Amino acid sequence: MNRRMVLASGNAGKLQELRQLLADLDFELVAQGELDVADADETGTTFVENALLKARHAARLTGLPALADDSGLCVHALDGAPGLHSARYAGRHGDHAANNAKLLHALKDCPEHHRSAFFLCVLVLLRHADDPAPLIAEGRWHGRILHAPRGKGGFGYDPLFAPDGHTVSAAELDASLKNRLSHRGRALARLREAFTQLRATPGGTS
Ligand code: IMP
Repeated sequence: MNRRMVLASGNAGKLQELRQLLADLDFELVAQGELDVADADETGTTFVENALLKARHAARLTGLPALADDSGLCVHALDGAPGLHSARYAGRHGDHAANNAKLLHALKDCPEHHRSAFFLCVLVLLRHADDPAPLIAEGRWHGRILHAPRGKGGFGYDPLFAPDGHTVSAAELDASLKNRLSHRGRALARLREAFTQLRATPGGTS
């Protein structure tokens, strides 16, 4: 496999996090924007489809192996919403305050025992655009939606999400603890494990 890999995301935080993850695996991770790749159309109806679409788009345009992720929040009482629309639930992409307000409103009559939810992160690694056997790793983080925001850390829905086993919100957790417990942390650990196994297999990364 090529020693360079394209990250199908424009998010600098993700690039940093994933670079650390891959550091000892001897890969150079390059953001797709640096290679003039524009965002793919996310036309899938599931997280895994959208992650695959993003990775394939970046691999096809660059000729490099590609890594993509897709993540969001699924609330059971809302049939999985905000789901794929997590970033733009209230209309404008990345307007976290409006998204949180809309979520609280949607759950205003929902009692404590029906407020369960989970964050999901799917990571996809394609060795080339037509790779029929992508590495796919998923992480889930279960918890419940609070009745009001708490805490100043994290981002997105963190102030409204109380992880199972904790009395505080995700926005009140220490960042390194959140990274270890979270859907993204779990998916990254699994991808890393799968990738290490693949490299130990003769021809695995070719
Ligand atoms: P993306 O996959 O990074 O674009 O995330 C999509 C959206 O899901 C974000 O804009 C957030 O609204 C939500 N989200 C994903 N991961 C987290 C998290 O760790 N905390 C809070 N919100 C998240």
